Amino acid sequence: MGRSTEQSRKLQKRAEAMIPGGVSSPVRAFGAVGGEQRFMARGQGAHLWDADGNQYIDYVGSWGPLILGHAPASVVQAVVAAARNGTSFGASVAQEADLAELVIAAFPHIQKVRFVNSGTEAVMSAIRLARAYTKRKFVVKFEGCYHGHADGLLAKAGSGIATLGIPGSAGVPQEFTQFTLALPFNDAETLEYAFNKFKHQIAAVIVEPVVGNMGCVPASGGYLAALRAITQREKTVLIFDEVMTGFRVAFGGAQELYGIRPDLTTLGKIIGGGLPVGAYGGASEIMDLVAPLGPMYQAGTLSGNPLAMAAGVATLQTLKDKRAEIYPQLEKLSALLVDGVAGIAKDAGISMRANRVGSMFTWFFTPNAVTDWTSAAKSDTQAFARFHRAMLDQGIYLPPSQYEAAFLSAAHTETNIQETIAAARKSLVKNKSAAP
Ligand code: PMP
Repeated sequence: MGRSTEQSRKLQKRAEAMIPGGVSSPVRAFGAVGGEQRFMARGQGAHLWDADGNQYIDYVGSWGPLILGHAPASVVQAVVAAARNGTSFGASVAQEADLAELVIAAFPHIQKVRFVNSGTEAVMSAIRLARAYTKRKFVVKFEGCYHGHADGLLAKAGSGIATLGIPGSAGVPQEFTQFTLALPFNDAETLEYAFNKFKHQIAAVIVEPVVGNMGCVPASGGYLAALRAITQREKTVLIFDEVMTGFRVAFGGAQELYGIRPDLTTLGKIIGGGLPVGAYGGASEIMDLVAPLGPMYQAGTLSGNPLAMAAGVATLQTLKDKRAEIYPQLEKLSALLVDGVAGIAKDAGISMRANRVGSMFTWFFTPNAVTDWTSAAKSDTQAFARFHRAMLDQGIYLPPSQYEAAFLSAAHTETNIQETIAAARKSLVKNKSAAP
């Protein structure tokens, strides 16, 4: 479409000389889709503008946090007001209690919550806590689920690890993952087998209750209930990693949507309203093991940062006040978009499976149902890459990997959706003619 990318190219060159890959997180790189990474200059509502002034309809939403869209007035005002009073005190602030109240009201099993700075920290701490509580060592995770980049969890992880096609990470000694059992997702039988083999040794089962990090893959009917029943029977801590799904698939996360209560929940993304935040919470009986009350140590210089807390409070308060409006609208427009594009692919004879839960979704380029990492990995990533490039050329910004969920925000309108469907029609026709 002749969009200039000169500034992005220049910035990329400059960044690459100093920052590995020119990115502060590998998922931002465009290696898996080809084409040029865009440097972003501004966001407003459903739109992004890059350094060359090109406009995009954004379906990345900063990888999940921006459920209200870019720069919502209430969040910006809250952050500015907080900043005027100082950016950090290293002491408690009222906003921590405000955010805790909102989180606890939305997640009934949480009696106490601790704020940290990222999803990675939240999960790392929740696992440590589960081990402290059970006095056991093993942790079960599922293939293709990503729970941040803590050493012990970089085993068959999703997200960037899946995009790069690697099983784990260099620099993680095998001994550091010896207590991590990576099992297939959506397979309760294998989990039973693991519990048999490691009787009374499994501290925690951690799961993304709707997986976002191998692309969007929902739990099949009864699977989450099976996880709950098995972990209860085995006195193992069930951790729902709702860093992505919390306040996304429903106000009270996947646990509200499916009616299953875990023992610990990890949160991030939306609860920080676009600023760096994570959180973990559960019943007081477990949470009171956390220092200074108990022997499980976890700390943070900037944890509970007033700007981040203010952004989170403003976001959750808006979601709470308008939940009856926002979530049904997200559902309606996401269905329109995801089904619309899938319908075009079908008519064009392109193999595509669309997975969606609320405003989280993925168009997998594969003829088969995607229910776990094995089926996700069969996707035609080249076809996805062509689709991504063609959409980007038409001003549609999708995650630059087949194995990352896309998101809709409350700022997206039906017009945005129709524009996107029209772009997809062109992209998919082009895709077909480019196929070998
Ligand atoms: N858990 C899940 C489910 C995630 O999706 C992510 C990040 N995408 C994390 C943990 C890690 O969060 P962060 O990137 O904030 O460390």
